[in-house]
Amino acid sequence: MSDATPIAPHGGALVDLVVSGGDEQALAAEAANLPKLTLGERELSDLEMLATGALSPLTGFQGEGDYHSVLDSMHLQDGVAWSIPVVLGVTDDELHRIGGASSVALLATDGGDPLAVLRVAERFPRDKAKEAVSVYRTDDLEHPGVRALFDAGDQCVAGTVEVLALPAHDDFVNYRLTPAQTREAFRERGWKTVVGFQTRNPIHRAHEYLQKCALEITDGLLVHPLMGATKSDDVPPDVRMRCYEALFDGYYPKDRSMIGIFPAAMRYAGPREAIWHAIARKNYGCTHFIVGRDHAGVGSYYGTYDAQRIFEEFEPDELGITPLMFEHSFFCVKCEGMGSPKTCPHEDEDRVILSGTKVRDMLRNGERPPIEFSRPEVADILIAAMRADG
Ligand SMILES: [Zn+2]
Repeated sequence: MSDATPIAPHGGALVDLVVSGGDEQALAAEAANLPKLTLGERELSDLEMLATGALSPLTGFQGEGDYHSVLDSMHLQDGVAWSIPVVLGVTDDELHRIGGASSVALLATDGGDPLAVLRVAERFPRDKAKEAVSVYRTDDLEHPGVRALFDAGDQCVAGTVEVLALPAHDDFVNYRLTPAQTREAFRERGWKTVVGFQTRNPIHRAHEYLQKCALEITDGLLVHPLMGATKSDDVPPDVRMRCYEALFDGYYPKDRSMIGIFPAAMRYAGPREAIWHAIARKNYGCTHFIVGRDHAGVGSYYGTYDAQRIFEEFEPDELGITPLMFEHSFFCVKCEGMGSPKTCPHEDEDRVILSGTKVRDMLRNGERPPIEFSRPEVADILIAAMRADG
């Protein structure tokens, strides 16, 4: 078949922290006798991303030097671009329990089998006030990312991890491709350029349009829904997946598009998370990445295009992946097609624009939004889910 996609992983090499080749038994035996630390949902997502190389070049939970370097300058100490710290927060109690241990077993649930061993290089205090303002641009506890930060422990333990097993999942197993598997899938399809699309929502026609605009200039499209922790009022993962499948069945070319799962937890850090999402997708083999309006935003904490402007703070070769910036898109009745303020000269009254609140109200009432806004197959899945939800 054809060559690999030309894009190198961030930092140059794809990290793989899962032990193999007979070392598993020794590590499992060692882990059984180590102090144990049970990870929360977010840290478990980070462990999975670290293990598979989605966070290349990171090889473990970050230490104090890199932590402050990322907060201060959006770069690791060695100069590699990096926008969001990946640290393992622990409470004072947990830190006390670990004591002076140089290695700690990481668990998904209390009493479960160890998933990994952390080689503890350092312990350091988490500067939550600084992290909030640097990463989230606010210290408002109403912000879900800030809230999660302040709910986490005040200390961090850092070091490389050696992974015995990836966190177990019983859902969407066919879509859970690691970066190496995703790169292989691109290779099998002969795609040299691939655009990645991050989403934590059902896809309506506006986002379908962005994806297809991008696909016009690339070989392939990776729809890469984030399936780690999200806000409780976001649409549940299983409902979203049914929507993606319906869309793919009816409207996407099979030889040019695929779905994979991005196991990250959502931070809602807007601009900085857009950079982090792009870097991770580069590790999955994407050469291009769609950045829409208010990417990874929440409430009104970020300006509509802040997540696009932040890319200007990096030299293009620092990130490697090419961001594709899009404006708000819609169906215009005068154009008789999809467009954006960039391509449609008409007025708002000619455009099918619905607020999120309006769409939710319609779906809750069992009413399909206009076909210019939502594919009917997607609308029906959302209506049924809301009905089941009461
Ligand atoms: Zn128009």
